[in-house]
Amino acid sequence: MEDIYLRLAKHLQDLVMGYPYTDELIDLLKEMFSPEEAQVVLALPNNLAPLEVVGLNTILSRTDFPKSTVVPALETLSNRGLIYSATMANGAKGYALLQIGFGVPQTFFWGGQHDARAEKMAALVLKYFSVSTTGKVYGGVPTKSYKYSPANLTIEVPMQGVMPNEQIGSIVEAASKIAVAHCPCRMSAKILGRTDCSHSLEVCIKYDELAEFVVDRGLAREISKDEAHHILKASEEEGLVHMVDNAQGQIKHTCNCCGHYCWNVGIIRRRKIPRDQLMAVYFIRQTELDECIGCGNCADICPVDAVKMVDERPQVDENWCIGCGVCAVSCAAEVISIIRRREDQSPENFSALHQQVKTEKDLK
Ligand code: SF4
Ligand code: SF4
Repeated sequence: MEDIYLRLAKHLQDLVMGYPYTDELIDLLKEMFSPEEAQVVLALPNNLAPLEVVGLNTILSRTDFPKSTVVPALETLSNRGLIYSATMANGAKGYALLQIGFGVPQTFFWGGQHDARAEKMAALVLKYFSVSTTGKVYGGVPTKSYKYSPANLTIEVPMQGVMPNEQIGSIVEAASKIAVAHCPCRMSAKILGRTDCSHSLEVCIKYDELAEFVVDRGLAREISKDEAHHILKASEEEGLVHMVDNAQGQIKHTCNCCGHYCWNVGIIRRRKIPRDQLMAVYFIRQTELDECIGCGNCADICPVDAVKMVDERPQVDENWCIGCGVCAVSCAAEVISIIRRREDQSPENFSALHQQVKTEKDLK
């Protein structure tokens, strides 16, 4: 019989937000699932969008295991945060695989625990999520799963062509439930003993059904809209970048990313993968240089090191600027604005985004 973990790795590879196959993935899966659990997980379909669930009958029709084995296994795995579950429209419970970015590898670190298990998972995650693995997750198709949303809560940044639904405040206002978890990137770095990033940890915001899932499992705490606005404002002042789903509506999370350990922004800062291959970047910085007072704040805060001070004037590398706007927040003279750099818009909503990504993947 083919090794169960190899079969599971192949199954997970074909998800919309799939797990690129490497030997390190097998090591990660062995730590996540017992062989019997892996068999049950294989019965969860891999052709669904992230956070789309199926009912028990569908799962039972895909396995030889009896209901008496499958139900407790699904419940245990869901309670441990290793598969996703949610209430379906008919009121019954549904289950789904955790897709990359929607629980793997975040689930091990969202809760902020630092114990032996977290240390083991942090080491395995670091081995698996190499630059090349991350590049394959986000880089395989033209439509990118995530985009940057410009900072504008701390000060009123002049923004040309930025639609209301692309502004971070309106994302919070549209949510029905909000939760905050620990940043998995900085948390895992801290667990591994890295001390050169002092950015805040509890700033990873989830919305709607994803918020419900993480709160119910003790991986995050529910917060009000006011607290969410406060966290986002403070993140802008710290120089953290808002990263959201590349959709006009139904946004499920806002990461507040740094250039040190973020699995995406850090890769761009280190110039490992060109920005447009990883993320949808709709905006760019513009500066009124005549009014600049040469303070250098914008160069110091830029999370991707896209600004150099030359003769006391900022020089922006437009090939690497991600239009995050945190430099505008830091600018003493308020001479930085954010402008649109491409005319297209994000897919209409979360479902349309992942349908588009799936279609592009299927065509490959
Ligand atoms: S220059 Fe840096 S901080 Fe400013 S918008 Fe571009 S990437 Fe963000
Ligand atoms: S932060 Fe503003 S004033 Fe200071 S160097 Fe940059 S553009 Fe000039």
